[in-house]
Amino acid sequence: MSINVLFAARPDRWSSYEPSLRAAFAERDLPVTLSQEMPPETVDYIIYAPNSPLQDFTPYARAKAVLNLWAGVEQIVGNPTLKIPLARMVDPGMTQSMTEWVTGHVMRYHLGMDRHIVNPGHVWQAHTPPLASERRVCILGMGALGSAVAEKLITIGFEVHGWSRRKKDIAGVTTHHGEAGLEQALRVAQILVLLLPDTPATEDILNARTIGHLPQGAFVINPGRGPLIDDTALMAALDNGKLAGATLDVFRVEPLPEAHPFWAHPKVTVTPHIAAETRPSTAARVIAENIQRGETGAPLLNLVDRDSGY
Ligand code: NAP
Repeated sequence: MSINVLFAARPDRWSSYEPSLRAAFAERDLPVTLSQEMPPETVDYIIYAPNSPLQDFTPYARAKAVLNLWAGVEQIVGNPTLKIPLARMVDPGMTQSMTEWVTGHVMRYHLGMDRHIVNPGHVWQAHTPPLASERRVCILGMGALGSAVAEKLITIGFEVHGWSRRKKDIAGVTTHHGEAGLEQALRVAQILVLLLPDTPATEDILNARTIGHLPQGAFVINPGRGPLIDDTALMAALDNGKLAGATLDVFRVEPLPEAHPFWAHPKVTVTPHIAAETRPSTAARVIAENIQRGETGAPLLNLVDRDSGY
């Protein structure tokens, strides 16, 4: 019997995902009927992007799970019509992308690359950067992405600190956890990377008070979510010299409005939410594995805890 899988993402995503999904289902001999449209009462699984027009899950009476294409679930986790399990995306391609993006921006600040790349006066500036082993990087959020980023930064030689909700032991990382551990984590963060989910508990986690815990001249890199940062506090800290720079990939409103002061701020680099796109070829395999698990009664991978919001 066929397994009916609805692809409920923006129509322009179909052409990039369809071949990878069909190939991944074939690899596992899954008898899937995949379509962008099917009668709701016949759907077994919903592959989903939160900006899809599908917002009312009530008619999908026999569906067994929603398989999110994104790592972040803040736009769907509170949907009151969603009563079935929700799996978020943990995709090896996305993880590699995030690791490369963060490493690149950490290296820019660590080496002081702007002195040489942006040097309009053609000044001979003999600035010797410290070694990575002399630089402390702190990652807030030590999940799938934060821990992969930490692993990469450790191989370069950085002293890496990480902060999570629950206590964690990660080889080579000095870990901190819970509310009590946040100040300790921030105090060492010469370069701070935000890789937390957007939940009620993490909103504005970087605010005037917590920025105050950072070392003078720290850099902030945010590929997590826009609401993690109090934008006004960030701008004030950049203006008064507490912070030396910020690279922001995510914003409260996206695309970032043209008039937003981040665009023109000399210490802010804006990137257009490109740190880690889901990669169809690797993500399709994760989806196929989850459907196979669903069909064989095995627990789904990457299930979202609806109470904690991630
Ligand atoms: P994840 O595996 O769920 O990890 C989340 C981490 O945050 C965990 O370590 C968790 O702690 C920690 N955390 C959550 N709430 C916390 C709290 N209140 N206090 C302290 N720590 C808390 O998520 P992920 O896959 O690494 O992804 C992280 C985020 O990256 C996503 O939610 C998404 O917003 C963002 N993202 C952005 C892009 C982009 O292109 N810019 C792409 C993909 C993802 P525990 O380990 O104790 O649970």
